[in-house]
Amino acid sequence: MALRQAPPEKMMFQLTLRRRGISDQAVLRTMEEIPREAFVEEGDREDAYRDSALGIACGQTISQPFVVAYMTEQLQLQKRHRVLEIGTGSGYQAAILSRLAGQVLTIERFRTLADAARARLEALGCDNVEVMFGDGFDVPPGAGQFDRIIVTAAMEQIPQSLIERLEPGGILIAPVGSHHGTQTLMRLVKTDAGIERKELVDVRFVPALPGVAREL
Ligand code: SAH
Repeated sequence: MALRQAPPEKMMFQLTLRRRGISDQAVLRTMEEIPREAFVEEGDREDAYRDSALGIACGQTISQPFVVAYMTEQLQLQKRHRVLEIGTGSGYQAAILSRLAGQVLTIERFRTLADAARARLEALGCDNVEVMFGDGFDVPPGAGQFDRIIVTAAMEQIPQSLIERLEPGGILIAPVGSHHGTQTLMRLVKTDAGIERKELVDVRFVPALPGVAREL
C-alpha cells in the first residue's frame, strides 16, 4: 500500500512551524489537518500554506499560520476546556481550537464574516463551535465562564470585564497595544494569588473595535 504523501507545500508549512519553535505535537497535527485553503479568499488558495496573513472580506485578515499555532500552543488546551475567541474572521483559528478543546464560542462583529465562518466550520464538521455575531467587548452574561480566552484583534488594553470571564486557573491571550503598528502578545493566567501577566512576542493584528459593524 502506498504511503500517504503530504503535498510539498504542506510539508513546508509544517517545517516552517517547527523551525519557528512550535513543538506541541497536537498543535502541529491540527495545523496539518485543518485545510487553511478553505478559509482564504478564492484567489489566494495558492498562497494558503505560506506563512503570512492574507486579506479576507470586510477589510479584515486571516492571521499568519505561525501566530495561530503559537497562540494555540500558549493556551495549553485540553479536551475539557471551554474556549472563547474574540474575532472570528475567517474561522480558521476557531477550527484549530475546535480540535483541541471541548467547546468553542467565537464572536465576530461583521455579520458577513460570522455567517461565512459558520458555514465553513459546519462543512468541516467542527460541530463544537458556536459562531456568534456580536461584540467581543460585550460578551452576553449568559455565555458563562471560560477556561481559555483568545483575542485575535488588537486591544489597547484588556478589559477587566473580559478577565472576569476566566475560570480559576484560566489563561487569556491577547495582542495588546496601539491599533497602528505592532502590539505585544500578552498571556494572563488567573491564579489564586491574582493575575499573572507575561509579555510574549510582537505581533500585528487588525484593531478590535467596539460594537457590531454597521456595514455588512
Ligand atoms: N481569528 C481570525 C482572524 C481575526 S482578524 C481568523 O482565524 O481568521 C480580527 C477579527 O476581529 C476581524 O474579523 C474583526 O472584524 C474582528 N473584531 C474586531 N473587533 C471585534 C469585536 N469587538 N468583537 C468581535 N469581533 C471583532
